[in-house]
Amino acid sequence: MDYQKLRERMVEEQIRSRGITDARVIDALRKVKRHAFIPEALINSAYEDHPVPIGEGQTISQPYIVALMSESLRLTGNEKVLEVGTGSGYQAAVLAELAKEVYSIERIASLQTRAESLLAELGYRTVHLKSGDGTLGWPQEAPFERIIITAAAAKVPPALIEQLAEGGLLIAPIGEDRLSQILTLIEKKGATLISTPVCGCVFVPLIGKHGLKDQ
Ligand code: SAM
Repeated sequence: MDYQKLRERMVEEQIRSRGITDARVIDALRKVKRHAFIPEALINSAYEDHPVPIGEGQTISQPYIVALMSESLRLTGNEKVLEVGTGSGYQAAVLAELAKEVYSIERIASLQTRAESLLAELGYRTVHLKSGDGTLGWPQEAPFERIIITAAAAKVPPALIEQLAEGGLLIAPIGEDRLSQILTLIEKKGATLISTPVCGCVFVPLIGKHGLKDQ
């Protein structure tokens, strides 16, 4: 399988044609080997236009959503970024191409362990992972210039707002409905939070102390 060719096609047909223009984001999607983050049995779906199951009832997001969230964060290469919901580690790898340091938290230990060894194997040394409840953030490493939440919550957990740097940007799927949320960009300006809706989306739930309660 010519994965490089499939990636080029994915970028043309799913990313650029839908209005993603940030050249650094486009290059990152061209470069990161998405198929490495997909379970072997589903590898043929790696570059398709939809989320793919990664085990434990979780998914790797659709390529376009990864690109859109990454572009919305307006990364220049100097930022310290927090991701909540490591999943496969793919979004973290894309962020590592765009920012200075990436900290990512995953609540399911088996996914965290798998992502950690994969990212190390692929040479991503600026990504730092831990297993735990991301709704509490990573206070020892705060503040973060950017925060990305890749699971859906009714509202942004307060700890994450606290850990967002002044002037920082946070992107998250927000909504109470399991089947539809609004991807929302939040800018922190002093005590004010400026929220901008980006588009409709569907994410698996954020489960934790300040998210959905575990069953
Ligand atoms: N960013 C991922 C990727 O690139 O593969 C996709 C993330 S998947 C849509 C959402 C992830 O969030 C799941 O792996 C889920 O276990 C995780 N999650 C849900 N609640 C969490 C929490 N409170 N803290 C950390 N991770 C959480």
